[in-house]
Amino acid sequence: MKCEKCSKNAISKNPFLCREHFDDYILQTVDQTIKNNNLFTKKSKILVALSGGKDSLSLVDILSRLNYAVSCIFINEGISGYRETSMKIVKEFTEKRNIPLEIKFFMKEFKLSLDLAVSTNKFHPCTICGTLRRYLLNKYSKNFDIIATGHNLDDGAQTVIINLSRGNTDLFLRLSPKSKELDFFTPRVKPLFFLRDDQLLIYLKEQNIKSDSLTCPNSPISYRNVIKQNLHNLEDKFPGSKMNIVKSYLNFKSKIKIACVEKKILKCSLCGEASQSGICKACQVKKEILFSLKN
Ligand code: SF4
Repeated sequence: MKCEKCSKNAISKNPFLCREHFDDYILQTVDQTIKNNNLFTKKSKILVALSGGKDSLSLVDILSRLNYAVSCIFINEGISGYRETSMKIVKEFTEKRNIPLEIKFFMKEFKLSLDLAVSTNKFHPCTICGTLRRYLLNKYSKNFDIIATGHNLDDGAQTVIINLSRGNTDLFLRLSPKSKELDFFTPRVKPLFFLRDDQLLIYLKEQNIKSDSLTCPNSPISYRNVIKQNLHNLEDKFPGSKMNIVKSYLNFKSKIKIACVEKKILKCSLCGEASQSGICKACQVKKEILFSLKN
């Protein structure tokens, strides 16, 4: 197929674009998402949690090329045979671009690796991982204006369908390129909100960026994976479906008034970090796991 903008061969579909126009499209889409949704400015101090996967690597590369001030944090949860590879990728990637990188370890922060925590069977691995990662991200983002995450159009479309099909009406209206601002929490934004998985894979290939292709051993056979596969099939047969799902959702959301009770954000009585109750979720999880390990 030929590029929609010139006569060269296309390297991407929907839209069909050649190498040069594809690169312009990616940079412009991210820049417009940032500007149209007031995500941040050139003066903002931005923190990205690099995982070594395609989304966060693309995000940092694109933001640097657009001259935004990015720093990175890598969280090593202690998943043996998995995180060592991604840590190496992330170190090489940031060193090459001269981007500041901080590395934090679950073991050092919580006296626990994820592998050890999982051995107690107290919680689902992803619950422990997500709770403790969010905690560290918020804790170490205090000197930043914003946390930018690599969530993309595929994640957004999956989230819309998951919340609809599971009847999660409270969660349904939360999806947005910019999270709601809450006291003591660094705001989160999604500059890749309108780019698909397949476009980011092509971007990495074109930029010659190596990403981590390993799958986490705790990765669940999840509801999300089933939706993901079905959405890929749908997009294949009916290009534009993922974008239509996300755009219809945003359109619907802008037309309704949301009545919600604001939750008061408190400080955790154990660690002093933000919490929606007296003790934050991370301290609760850690306490239960450590107790279980001692007994
Ligand atoms: Fe953490 Fe692995 Fe679960 Fe992802 S799949 S949340 S890395 S435990």
